[in-house]
Amino acid sequence: MPSARTSNPPPALEQLFQPLRAEERPAVIRAVDVRKVYTTGEQQTHALRGATLSVFRGEYLSIMGPSGSGKSTLFNMIGALQKPTSGKVYIDQVDIAQLDQNELSWLRCRKVGYIFQTYNLIQVMTCLENVMLPMGFAGIEAEQAREKAISLLKSVGLGHRILHKPAELSGGQQQRVAIARSLANSPGVVLADEPTANLDQRTGQEMIDLLDDLKQSLGVTIVSATHDLKMLKKSDRILWIEDGRIARVAHAGEVDFDSQEFH
Ligand code: ADP
Ligand code: MG
Repeated sequence: MPSARTSNPPPALEQLFQPLRAEERPAVIRAVDVRKVYTTGEQQTHALRGATLSVFRGEYLSIMGPSGSGKSTLFNMIGALQKPTSGKVYIDQVDIAQLDQNELSWLRCRKVGYIFQTYNLIQVMTCLENVMLPMGFAGIEAEQAREKAISLLKSVGLGHRILHKPAELSGGQQQRVAIARSLANSPGVVLADEPTANLDQRTGQEMIDLLDDLKQSLGVTIVSATHDLKMLKKSDRILWIEDGRIARVAHAGEVDFDSQEFH
């Protein structure tokens, strides 16, 4: 009888050591028939017309769709920033409609990190203060928050800019600060809404590599709305949204990136 410590697993157990395909992992976010109607005066806009999707732990999911198709609305729903008109959203198996204001704030602060197209940094605060802010909301003691913020800023290559204000930085650097801020409370999921849309090609590529590194090193789940081919190629799955409906979901390996729709 070989010792359990030194032997390879018996063949029947070997499958337990196989990496899981994305859809075999637990869902971190689940949306079920989510609809959103915006009412502006007399006008109603059906921004989401029944979206059902699961986001699996550790995956990189890209959301594609023309402007106005409902990408940001879908983000706001799965990130618990807005309530759906109907349908359910579960984050870590919890139906978020059942949460009160305090619980929702806790969830937004701890479970999800947000990165926006226009960075959304607070202009009067330094990079350090911007990254410390979500930790303050989470009740983390200032000295500890400061240390973590410095380490996050270093990890995105901005260790030499911690006391600068956003206006003193390039777009790419500001987006790096936003990435550092999104990770402040070590969320399981990062939602990035067109994070490279305002960046030049090279800076966009740096941002994509950075997000990919975070995914690999921290196991963060990433959901990103994007048209950026480079970003799509790094994804595990791609979801197409058209006029508020999910039109298609595919593994990146099954997608022909040379086809017309990507050029
Ligand atoms: P995308 O991010 O794909 O460009 P959005 O989710 O922002 O699309 O928008 C989907 C539709 O909903 C659009 O027609 C947009 O004009 C409308 N919309 C988005 N936000 C609002 C809002 N707060 N009030 C009214 N209409 C909105
Ligand atoms: Mg949008």
